[in-house]
Parts: sequence; C-alpha cells; structure tokens
Amino acid sequence: MNFRPQTALSPAQATPLVDPFGRAISYLRVSVTDRCDLRCVYCMSEHMQFLPRRDLLTLEELDRLCSAFIARGTRKLRITGGEPLVRHGVMTLFRSLSRHLVLGALDELTLTTNGSRLAEFAQELADWGVRRVNVSLDTLNPDKFRAVTRTGDLARVLRGIEAAREAGLKVKLNAVALRGVNEDEVIELTRFAHDRGMDMTFIEVMPLGDVVGEWSQRFLPVADLRASLSKQLTLLPTPYRSGGPARYWQVEQTGGRVGFITPMTHNFCESCNRVRLTCTGTLYMCLGQDDQADLRAVLRSGASDGDLEDAIREAISRKPKGHDFIIDRRHERPAVARHMSVTGG
Ligand code: SAM
Ligand code: SF4
Repeated sequence: MNFRPQTALSPAQATPLVDPFGRAISYLRVSVTDRCDLRCVYCMSEHMQFLPRRDLLTLEELDRLCSAFIARGTRKLRITGGEPLVRHGVMTLFRSLSRHLVLGALDELTLTTNGSRLAEFAQELADWGVRRVNVSLDTLNPDKFRAVTRTGDLARVLRGIEAAREAGLKVKLNAVALRGVNEDEVIELTRFAHDRGMDMTFIEVMPLGDVVGEWSQRFLPVADLRASLSKQLTLLPTPYRSGGPARYWQVEQTGGRVGFITPMTHNFCESCNRVRLTCTGTLYMCLGQDDQADLRAVLRSGASDGDLEDAIREAISRKPKGHDFIIDRRHERPAVARHMSVTGG
C-alpha cells in the first residue's frame, strides 16, 4: 500500500504542547491496532472481541495525527498495540514517519512488540530508522510462555530477538512480574538479557480491563524481585533514565542494567511527558484515567490542520496531574475499564 503523507507545520513554526502543570508533551505512544496474535492473561480475555476495521484509523490518518504532534514538539514516537506488527501495511507507516527522523523533527521512532513477527520485520524497521525496540518476554520457559500468552511460541520470539540484534537494533526486554509464574526467573531473565547486551525491565501488573480476578492473584511488587535479585547479584544505583518511569540499577557482575516500573506503588506522574493515541484515534492524556478526546471524529469531519491543532491543544489542556491506580478489592473492579491492548501499554 502506498500513500502520500500530508505536510505538517515545521516544529519551528508551531508552539509546543504544554499541559496546565507545565509539562511539555514530547512523547506520543500510538496504538496502531487492538489485534494481537497472542492472548496474554493479564492483557486480554481469551475470546477477545476486536474492533471492526472501519473503526480503526487508516495508515494515512495515523500518519497525519503523528505528524501533527511532531510539528508541535513531540520528539519521540512509540508504535504499539495490540501487536503493532500484525497491522497490515504497518511498514508503510514506519517508512512514512521516517521522514521526520531524516528532517530532524523527531529524535526517535520506536516500537513495543511481542517479538513474534520480529524476525520478518527487523531489517525493514532498521531501514526506516528504528534504532531501539522493546520486546515483551515474561518467561524463558516454553510451557510457561504458552500458558501466559495462551497461544505463543517462545522459540519464535527468541528468533525475533536474534533477528533484531542482527539488524543492529538495540533491544530492551520487558517482563510483567507475575506471582507464581516468573518470580523464580528473575536471575535467569536478567542474565539472559545482559549476556546479549540488552537491558531488562520488570513491570508491575496494572489493573486494566476485565482481567482483575487474574490480576489480584498475580500481583507481585517488583520490590520483591529486586530483593531476590540482590541476594545473588550486586545492584548499583545509576542515574540512567530511559525517559520513562523505570528506575534502573547497574548489575556489577554483568555490567548490564535492570529496571523496575512500579505504577502501583510509586507515583511517577510529576515528570509525565506523554500522551497515548489509540488505534481508533482516541487520545488519552493519562494511562490511569478515562478522560479522552476523540480525534478520529475531528479528522473525519474534514478538519483543517488548524482545527486539528485546536482539538489537540484542548485535549492537552485537560491532562490531569496524575493517576491513582486503586483496585477495588471488594468489588474486584479495575481502576480503568479499558484493556492495555486498547491504550497501548
Ligand atoms: N503487543 C506488544 C507487546 O506485548 O509488547 C505491545 C502492546 S502491549 C499492550 C505493551 C506492554 O504492556 C507489554 O509489555 C505488556 O506486557 C504490557 N501489559 C499488558 N497488560 C498489562 C497489565 N495489565 N499490566 C502491566 N503491563 C501490561
Ligand atoms: Fe498481545 Fe502485547 Fe497484550 Fe500480550 S501484552 S496480549 S502480546 S498486546
């Protein structure tokens, strides 16, 4: 598929997007599909109903929205999903967005993937200017991997990771910490990553969507993982930040970094520079709150670039100060009803 990207204001022409708390919005995460070839237990229900295709933004619409943000100060773009690499024609989007890298309007174009199609696309991603990729990998045990993802093939993901490294991409691994699943693999995962020059990050499971029953049994504070890791390895504090909420430690024995993300137990909102766009064009100003703006409706009403800018600015003016992930244990309700595959992680 081919499409002609729309031109957008150059960053020099436009005033950056700044929220009411003075935080400049420089990071946009874009979900390009709600579909996925896996069904991770904490992310999706087994028989997920996916959106009708007409509800999804077209690749042209995605490009126009991303370009509008880039023109107003977004320096980092992360493509996610669902599984971004199952979106038909997604390489066309990477190709078209790569023009912003070439022009110096964008510092980084990256993606988060489950890795199952990475072997197929790693080289092309590198060709379109992607330099780093986050791969989600919760376990190195093929049976557990199949159980957590309900359908996945670990060997395929490992091949994808190798292909990414061979294509020169810097890979970071992300594992969701799950009680009774990977708490005994923290050393093995960290060593696996560090032996291959990759950072390893552990993330606390968040109460999203209708997977709360599972969540409340599986929640494992990453502080526990850090404690068990430091029994065998020496964790040295490091000022390194990846631009996100992770706090990193340097492992003395391996020289690699291990990061921990604690959305449930640590509030990282004060430095939040990001907003999230779903595959249906809904802009969420905060992962932990439901307030949103329907940019698809704006686009499909035939909006000019000026109208689109007004809608984006109005949305950013509503970015909340922070979130409060509280699970209502008595009613077993999630704090936020939408799935991670909708908001895009
Ligand atoms: N499919 C891709 C993947 O798995 O990397 C990209 C989308 S996925 C929604 C993005 C990230 O969100 C993954 O690392 C996944 O493990 C994480 N995730 C999904 N549901 C989560 C939850 N309830 N709590 C914490 N992380 C979650
Ligand atoms: Fe798919 Fe990623 Fe959700 Fe797993 S976490 S079901 S791979 S979208």
